[in-house]
Amino acid sequence: MTARTHGTYTRYKLEGCRCYPCAGAASDYRANRERAIAYGTWQPFVDHGCTPEAAAQRLGITVGYVKALHRLAIRREAAA
Ligand SMILES: [Zn+2]
Repeated sequence: MTARTHGTYTRYKLEGCRCYPCAGAASDYRANRERAIAYGTWQPFVDHGCTPEAAAQRLGITVGYVKALHRLAIRREAAA
């Protein structure tokens, strides 16, 4: 059972819901993302302002996983 509502990009992406409202939300997200990239204002990563330990606790994952995600983000940023 999920707490996510329909009509959200999160439900579309994480739960694979392909209902009309979720597909619309995903379409809106992609359009806004492409527009921001075209204008040079796209910021896929935000500074969450906390330590890896705090982020891990908040997300319910291990610190190693948080650090691995951070390294991956840096590599993707460098490759762009
Ligand atoms: Zn849905």
